[in-house]
Amino acid sequence: MSTGQSSIDTDCVVVGAGVVGLAVARALAGTGREVILIEAGEGIGVGISSRNSEVIHAGIYYPTGSLRAQLCVEGRQRLYAFCDARGVDYQRLGKLIVATDDNQCAALRALLEQGRRNGVDDLQWLDAAQARALEPALSCVAALWSPSTGIIDSHALMLALQADGEASGMSIAFQTPLESARCTAHGFDLVIGGAQPMRLSSRDLINCTGLSAPDVASRIEGLSSQHVPVARLCKGSYFSFSGRAPFRHLLYPAPESAGLGVHMTLDLGGQARFGPDVEWVDQVDYRVDPRRADGFYEAIRRYWPGLPDNSLQPAYSGIRPKITGPTEPAADFIISGPAEHGVPGLVNLFGIESPGLTSCLALAERVVQRLAQPRSS
Ligand SMILES: Cc1cc2nc3c(=O)[nH]c(=O)nc-3n(C[C@H](O)[C@H](O)[C@H](O)COP(=O)(O)OP(=O)(O)OC[C@H]3O[C@@H](n4cnc5c(N)ncnc54)[C@H](O)[C@@H]3O)c2cc1C
Repeated sequence: MSTGQSSIDTDCVVVGAGVVGLAVARALAGTGREVILIEAGEGIGVGISSRNSEVIHAGIYYPTGSLRAQLCVEGRQRLYAFCDARGVDYQRLGKLIVATDDNQCAALRALLEQGRRNGVDDLQWLDAAQARALEPALSCVAALWSPSTGIIDSHALMLALQADGEASGMSIAFQTPLESARCTAHGFDLVIGGAQPMRLSSRDLINCTGLSAPDVASRIEGLSSQHVPVARLCKGSYFSFSGRAPFRHLLYPAPESAGLGVHMTLDLGGQARFGPDVEWVDQVDYRVDPRRADGFYEAIRRYWPGLPDNSLQPAYSGIRPKITGPTEPAADFIISGPAEHGVPGLVNLFGIESPGLTSCLALAERVVQRLAQPRSS
């Protein structure tokens, strides 16, 4: 990076054009603020936002009172309304969470109670016959029916967020990685790398860089390292089903420790895919190891014994931006603003794993609120 490059002054810089950065930039631009969204990649949604299950979650799984619970329920309602208003494709298919033996029924009952406490008020308990009336190929002893769970075209969502933001004056710059930042009396001096290195100065800085968020935060001079969590990577692979699966709703097993279990989702064309599984990794590598299929056949046949041999093909993978390790409880979303770290105008988002897609509009609103609080300098 050479020095002495052109310098631009702006009001807000949002870093990272995944679904969260796009939602944040759109929300800030919508309040009349001048916003530049900078993205290291060549386009929008090149990170986690295009490597997930594309499920609009209801908000059942997350501890009551956590940000994940609150923002999922609020975000889901906002997201459906946004999709209706902007013509973003989605289907409210509903999902079944299944207990495949009696031992899992207590966990499922606990999930039902937790979902209700979280404000998911349409959950229903189904016995095996009722569940099979919805999905005849399913094997289970009981199920939870969540009618407000859906699927979404996540790329169309991101395009709609981008269009909205641009209509409010947001600028977006691709191949524009933030390399480092320094806190100043008036905001931040930013060093931008890439093909056209430059310096930017901005009053506010919002770090929405997903897997890179801890690394980016660690390169902000003036932010104490105690406010930067350690990044942990937890990969989830998907396999697609060749042929037409005999299901019309999403199917989830009783949840596992680091994920929601190998579930079956449908895309908007009705094609089934299974995943994600759980694999803690040290590096970002999105290749799917075909040998992981063995674990998939085993997990899926617990609720779909009719899964044919040789019907699963490696599809894609995503990596969860965890901030706690395999032996620790799952962390909540972290929205780390001035009240937490003491740096005016700075918000870091950490650990925005699932349900980050569902929650994006609600998360964005919280970021706007954090920045609206009065600053002393
Ligand atoms: C396997 C898996 C399944 C999931 N399933 C669901 C689901 O069904 N429903 C749901 O609600 N949520 C789901 N999620 C969660 C959801 O996908 C994420 O919460 C969401 O996509 C996070 O978006 P983001 O914008 O924070 O991150 P990203 O989409 O990763 O965006 C971050 C962006 O920052 C950019 N960037 C990085 N470093 C820099 C830099 N220095 N300068 C500039 N740009 C930079 C990256 O290129 C990237 O584009 C899932 C996640 C995973 C991993």
